[in-house]
Amino acid sequence: MAKEIIEVECPNCGQTISVPTDEFVDVSETPEAKRAIIEGEFFLNECPECGDQVLVEYPMMYMDPEKKLNIYLGPDHDDDLLDQMNELELPPEAIDREAIFRLVSDGLYLVEKILIAEKNRDDRILELYKFIIWDQVEEAFPELEPGDLLYMFDDEEESFVVWPSDNGNDEKLTIPLDEELYQELVDNYSTVLAIPPGEYAEVDQEWIGERFER
Ligand SMILES: [Zn+2]
Repeated sequence: MAKEIIEVECPNCGQTISVPTDEFVDVSETPEAKRAIIEGEFFLNECPECGDQVLVEYPMMYMDPEKKLNIYLGPDHDDDLLDQMNELELPPEAIDREAIFRLVSDGLYLVEKILIAEKNRDDRILELYKFIIWDQVEEAFPELEPGDLLYMFDDEEESFVVWPSDNGNDEKLTIPLDEELYQELVDNYSTVLAIPPGEYAEVDQEWIGERFER
């Protein structure tokens, strides 16, 4: 299948860059795409004129059949996109009740969702977890915005990273994930936070905020 090409202007030199797009990424077929997304390389395009790396995010469907994970990336999408995506009603027997359907508005959140699935965590519970640690973090970082707390992991541990806390050396404040608290939230809130099978949801701080009065 021919790839659709979008053209963007290099922010550095003004050169027009042709970007081939992958509207559907099934990582069971292209495992290298998953790695490239996680590494932050997937949406980078080198300007042929000045050599700058230009980030170009575009609408894309990410599918990981092994994880039963389906994520639609709609960069800066319209408010009604979710409703449109959920308009199609499938017969109940056609719905895989274990499959996860998500909408995200930017590449960073796509990476976060992929990482969450890698560790078999529940993104709804993690948003609730963020909600809880928000207050203690907000005091130190008054400019903190919803979406600035991100789940991640390295070789040692899983944690939440405070995105705007960069100290200039590419180091950010992290808060380790407490397994006990996570399990407690799973036990107490999984039912309350249920999403109808087959339905897309944009599970973020706004989503969790609508379910719990702050
Ligand atoms: Zn350029």
